[in-house]
Amino acid sequence: MRAGILALQGAFAEHRNMLERLGTDCVEIRQRTDFHENLDALVLPGGESTVMRKLLTELELLEPIRKSIEAGMPVMGTCAGLILLAENVAGGESCFGTMPVTVRRNAYGRQLGSFQTVEEMKGVGQFPMTFIRAPYIEEAHDGVEVLAVTGGRIVAARYGSQLGLAFHPELTDNPDIHRYFIEEICRK
Ligand code: GLN
Repeated sequence: MRAGILALQGAFAEHRNMLERLGTDCVEIRQRTDFHENLDALVLPGGESTVMRKLLTELELLEPIRKSIEAGMPVMGTCAGLILLAENVAGGESCFGTMPVTVRRNAYGRQLGSFQTVEEMKGVGQFPMTFIRAPYIEEAHDGVEVLAVTGGRIVAARYGSQLGLAFHPELTDNPDIHRYFIEEICRK
């Protein structure tokens, strides 16, 4: 399996390490020519979604990636990556807009800008979740399966082959979510 990792900005190297540990070949996507049809999956890392959206537009990557996701390419978006996938961004602009959810950016306020918790995630089990100026899913529309909730807020969801997480599984030592993505989403 070969996964493309959007590498314009943010925590892409950590995703690469995790996926390589699980035996996945990785390609870093930095420009239009890096994104081609023989990728089996795509990872959108955490970072700053407004900067990523601007770069995706300038590099003419936005439309080709959107089309591939719409055509069913498995994608995992973490934190800023979830914001890129969301159809609606409360108080902001959407990017790919392929996942029928409304997300709120920087949603936990200043005091709780960054925190950790352990929660159950459907299909994965207990998982240590690291939140960094994270969004949450305010509304999940038809067809979206909620996979994890913390403090009454949706922090993980799946829509077909799209997995959106408000937290950072790549910043832990625990590969269970990456394994879930590969085995339950990419290989099915
Ligand atoms: N606050 C960032 C944004 O709006 C997301 C933070 C993150 O990815 N850790 O894009």
